[in-house]
Amino acid sequence: MSYDHATVPENGERVRYDETTEELTIPDNPIVPLLYGDGIGVDVAPAAKQVLQAAAEATGRHVEWMRVSAGERAREEYGENLPEETVEAIRDFRVALKGPLTTPVGAGFRSLNVALRQKLDLYANVRPTYYLEGVPSPVKAPQEMDMVTFRENTEDVYAGIEWEAGTEDGEQVRTFLEEEMDAEGIHEGPVGIGIKPITEFGTKRLVREAIDYALENDRDSVTLIHKGNIMKYTEGQFRDWGYEVAQEEYGEAVITEDTLWEERDGEQPEDTLVVNDRIADNMLQQLLTRTAEYDVLAMPNLNGDYLSDAAGAQIGGLGIAPGANFGEGRVLAEPVHGSAPKYAGQDKVNPTAMILSGRLLFEYLGWEDAADLIGEAVEQTIASKYVTYDLHRQIEGGEKVSTSEYAERVAETIEDLA
Ligand code: NAP
Repeated sequence: MSYDHATVPENGERVRYDETTEELTIPDNPIVPLLYGDGIGVDVAPAAKQVLQAAAEATGRHVEWMRVSAGERAREEYGENLPEETVEAIRDFRVALKGPLTTPVGAGFRSLNVALRQKLDLYANVRPTYYLEGVPSPVKAPQEMDMVTFRENTEDVYAGIEWEAGTEDGEQVRTFLEEEMDAEGIHEGPVGIGIKPITEFGTKRLVREAIDYALENDRDSVTLIHKGNIMKYTEGQFRDWGYEVAQEEYGEAVITEDTLWEERDGEQPEDTLVVNDRIADNMLQQLLTRTAEYDVLAMPNLNGDYLSDAAGAQIGGLGIAPGANFGEGRVLAEPVHGSAPKYAGQDKVNPTAMILSGRLLFEYLGWEDAADLIGEAVEQTIASKYVTYDLHRQIEGGEKVSTSEYAERVAETIEDLA
């Protein structure tokens, strides 16, 4: 397609995906759409770009970044929040990196992040949560945290099917529920109503993705996290469909926790993955109290939102935590944190989360050598106590540096290591 505002780099090549073989073809000079995002996006995106390019070049490659917009910049350029050509660029070039986008609370437009995930059918939000040596953490043994969360990205209460209190539509839905569906318990007066769809299709493809990942990466378990004791037909169903995938599609490679205890006395055979389930509130405690026992977690959208942030706190917080959204043959990597508007443009915040999100993108491209360099360089930089304000306030004797100084040091370290 032709682009009105974005410019397709002349020299790069596109990443291709064959739907039949499900294989990607990765050039050494891929075109990668880059969305800076709102707020601190202008700080962390250029920093990440510098570090990622250093790692690409150190391993004989070059990324051709293609700047695209959403949020504030798109309102200025296109007069809308999420221009079709931004969505199209990400769809077309298959791999992309984005910074945070602001979402107004209560009134105003719907989340652009949610819209992007839905429009591109990026159904799995994946966040590897692992400890980097030297990062200050609020817990005693942060190194025990090594989990990967798989959050369903397209349904649940995030589907956006909701009606505002006091509107005609809202009242119609209420009347329908009370008079035709025998719904009870809605208090008198204005009511906001939302719908929570959890489908077999959405659940199974997410759980499949989590199990495939666990098997490929020699993980020990996949835990289905739900609130099925209360929401039986949505969250309970998530658990049941999740077990169905585990039991029907993987033969002996996957066993359930019940089988493990009933037939094998709790002894997990090597090369076998155990699938278990936990109720979400209990799991939020277990993240802290039995951290080392958990591995890959799969859950519906809202549980995933809460739980992945809580897990991120244990390894040092939002400045560190990376993420990526996966669809079929495509990925959109993005940090867990938001746009932190009060720090925007101050060259102050921590770009590590954005850098490590780019690292996930490189792993998706199969650039393991470049990804390792990034991990190593970030770890060395933090271990030398050369850190941004957020880590500096928790580290004794550290040197407080700006976003760009930190990125510069990480990029130099990559060159030294290569
Ligand atoms: P936030 O932007 O993540 O910021 C909350 C706090 O986290 C900041 O005040 C700061 O804490 C710390 N923080 C975040 N990023 C950091 C970084 N890179 N380095 C150091 N510290 C960092 O969360 P929010 O204030 O709840 O949300 C602001 C906006 O972002 C909202 O509009 C929200 O909807 C949006 N959001 C977008 C995404 C996304 O694009 N995927 C995700 C989450 C939120 P201190 O002040 O304590 O230093």
